Amino acid sequence: MKKFTALISIFLIFFICGCANREYSKVEFLMDTVVEIKVYHNNKAEAQEAIDSSMEEMRRVEQKMSSFFPGSEVFRINKEALLEEKKGPLSAEQWIPVSNELFSLLKESVHLSQLTRGTFDITIYPLWKIWKFKGENPEVPGKGEIERVLKFVNYGGMILKDGKISFAKKGMGIDLGGIAKGYAVDAAVKILKKKNIKSAMVNAGGDMYVLGRKQGRLWRIGIRHPRREGEILGTIEVEDEAIVTSGDYERFFFSGGKRYHHIINPKTGYPADECQSVTIVAKEAAFADGLATGIFVLGPKKGMALIENLEGVEGVIVNKEGDVSTSSGLVSKIKYVN
Ligand code: ADP
Ligand code: MG
Repeated sequence: MKKFTALISIFLIFFICGCANREYSKVEFLMDTVVEIKVYHNNKAEAQEAIDSSMEEMRRVEQKMSSFFPGSEVFRINKEALLEEKKGPLSAEQWIPVSNELFSLLKESVHLSQLTRGTFDITIYPLWKIWKFKGENPEVPGKGEIERVLKFVNYGGMILKDGKISFAKKGMGIDLGGIAKGYAVDAAVKILKKKNIKSAMVNAGGDMYVLGRKQGRLWRIGIRHPRREGEILGTIEVEDEAIVTSGDYERFFFSGGKRYHHIINPKTGYPADECQSVTIVAKEAAFADGLATGIFVLGPKKGMALIENLEGVEGVIVNKEGDVSTSSGLVSKIKYVN
């Protein structure tokens, strides 16, 4: 009898191990950042195929939404808007056709602008161009130059109708840098779900989504400390949720002892200086991405009030002094370091 029980146990152990989900992952440099996709699955070939397809999907999104890739749809729109500029103001005949996919994202961007009182604004493009954060030696643009382009930044002047876009003023354009990474994460997760993956994490340089649970447990996600490199503020435990952080430490330069970073206040034309970082937890990464950027500009008080008002949205804000505030629904899910 003892032998029989032992045999059964051995069989059970083999059975459980054979079916157990293993971790498969891949890291690539995409969208100007390190992208990691991690999957827990019981079939190696299926897991790897799902990871490859979702990486490919993120690359597709990047090539469509980047305002820097000549050949991307956004690049083409900005170029056409400029060409039209030379001919005179856009008229009804000069609407630029937009793909369904981009059109939806443009509409979502407008929705985010409305929620954030215009602090999230993809018509930031002309400002973004003169700040040249991506260049070799970024420097602060002249005051006059900022003032000159500020009048082209206003989401209200981006007109969307019947799958087409037009701009109210000559010189306007769009940059989706504040939402495209999140959108790419959502797109990757859709592919993973389609491929029957139940447990995964997609992380595009701090913009992430966790699908299901990790080996039966909630995912424990670290929130980066905005001032101490390599350290975390704390961890949150979540499942089926996007966690997206906008911080002033992602891309910046110092000039005259002042930090100039890549999240611009569309009203002033200068980097927003009310926060060090904003983390948003929500059901969709695109929404969380845009909201984090907008709230970063909106500031800690109005920002937290907005988070508390939005159903299914939680967040952590670190203000410019480094003080941390946590939304009510996150208090029980977050563990701060010391
Ligand atoms: P990260 O790229 O570090 O995740 P964000 O999601 O906050 O950061 O996005 C910053 C990017 O969004 C900038 O690189 C720029 O392309 C764009 N951007 C900057 N300021 C704004 C703004 N106020 N509204 C919308 N997009 C912005
Ligand atoms: Mg963002």
